[in-house]
Amino acid sequence: MSDIGKRIVKIFDTTLRDGEQTPGVSFPLEYKIQIAKQLDKLGVDIIEAGFPMASKGEMEAMKRIARLDLDADVCGLARVVKSDVEKCLDCGVDMVHVFVSTSEIQREHTIRKSKEEVIDLSVSMVEFVKDHGVKCMFSAMDATRTEVDYLKAVYTSVESAGVDIINVPDTVGVATPTFMRELIRELKKNLNVPLDVHCHNDFGLATANSIMAVEAGAEEVQVTVNGLGERAGNANLAEVVMTLHALENIETSIRTEYLVETSRLIERLSGIKMPPNTPIVGDNAFSHESGIHTHGVIIKSDTFEPGVMTPEMVGHRRRLVLGKHAGKHAIEKLLRDYGYTVTEEQLIEIVERIKDLGDKGKKVTDVDLFTIAEVVIGDLSEKEKVIHINEVTVLTGNRVTPTAVVNAEVQGKRMVESATGVGPVDAALKAVQRLVGGEIRITEFRIEAITGGSDALAEVVIGVEDNEGYSMTARAARDDIVMASVEALVNAINRILVVKRKRAVQ
Ligand code: MN
Repeated sequence: MSDIGKRIVKIFDTTLRDGEQTPGVSFPLEYKIQIAKQLDKLGVDIIEAGFPMASKGEMEAMKRIARLDLDADVCGLARVVKSDVEKCLDCGVDMVHVFVSTSEIQREHTIRKSKEEVIDLSVSMVEFVKDHGVKCMFSAMDATRTEVDYLKAVYTSVESAGVDIINVPDTVGVATPTFMRELIRELKKNLNVPLDVHCHNDFGLATANSIMAVEAGAEEVQVTVNGLGERAGNANLAEVVMTLHALENIETSIRTEYLVETSRLIERLSGIKMPPNTPIVGDNAFSHESGIHTHGVIIKSDTFEPGVMTPEMVGHRRRLVLGKHAGKHAIEKLLRDYGYTVTEEQLIEIVERIKDLGDKGKKVTDVDLFTIAEVVIGDLSEKEKVIHINEVTVLTGNRVTPTAVVNAEVQGKRMVESATGVGPVDAALKAVQRLVGGEIRITEFRIEAITGGSDALAEVVIGVEDNEGYSMTARAARDDIVMASVEALVNAINRILVVKRKRAVQ
């Protein structure tokens, strides 16, 4: 398919403005700068960096972001109030986004202005922005609940005043896709400036409404990373962009291979974790457990994936998860990937053991699989293990820095390492990591099950990754949480090192 003549839609990101209005989310200055840089790397066209009127910190952040010299335009939000606009201009923004309530309910109960006053203020603020030589976006707040005739009157007035782009916000998320399509079509008949939409997800329709607006002719879409924003949030950047690219054959400037990376950064900085079944970026977005699906995916990934969207396109990874639905093919493929060759009988035996664990409600980690495989193949040898722990000592309390000393044999050589940490587990794990020269990073730490009293069994799951990108998950269960953690980490490290050795001799 030729890209020539493809329609292009612009992406206006408001993670730093509406996204920051997510209940409980506040980004310190350094986070805002980091996010702005990431959005620029991702390729958004416009970054709405904040509402400088709101606070001194907000203004400072806006100034710093405007000075970053990003490829994206930096936009500041302002009410139809001169001092708000001046604050944006003082920050050196490329664009000022002025907004005013136009729906009857908001006009009468919040700003208490007549229809004529709203138009007059809008026109004079757009002119004021344009007099200063920067781009101007105008929003009729609560547009989707505004009488259409009045909405058209407001928009044509600001168009005559020289506005560069008009935003149609579904401020309280009440539009349906059909309503949105009809509204945009109607506005398109009356206006020549580009249209932008800002959809909220109160009914889970933000992405659908944004897409319908684009189908009806909107040239720009407002989104946030991970769909953050007021209440149920805004249209989700990844969903909107991938729908446009993969299903609508419409281009954006987004470098989609950074979608997952960007989502993870925002998860970390906002403290809001995405559920595993989140479209496109969620942990399970390209994971397969059922035997029928994994079998299909191994032969040809399109069989049980959208095909028009692959994990590589969005910076994700395909994962085959083993459970009671695990199929023979998935297990064989995983074993082969890690350098194990099994006979048909061995494979059947391994599959049965895994299904057995699955039936008991256990999620089978890669290490469980390899452990089972080695028992079945009879390949398990103590001498293959790189690290043997001889002794672990931890010191903790409210007046000491938690410290751990680990005495071990590493490739037959006796070693002692010590480390401090925020607690005894952290200290012990750091000491173990030092045994292998810090080449292993912990990517996941979970206490999966604790039953009973203070002497209960703690089941620790640890995921690790080495410098070359080899990753492994391992678990251990003990009544001592420090020892369970150490054992899980040592299992994972040993497994990575054995797998690498197997691969090297292949
Ligand atoms: Mn909003």
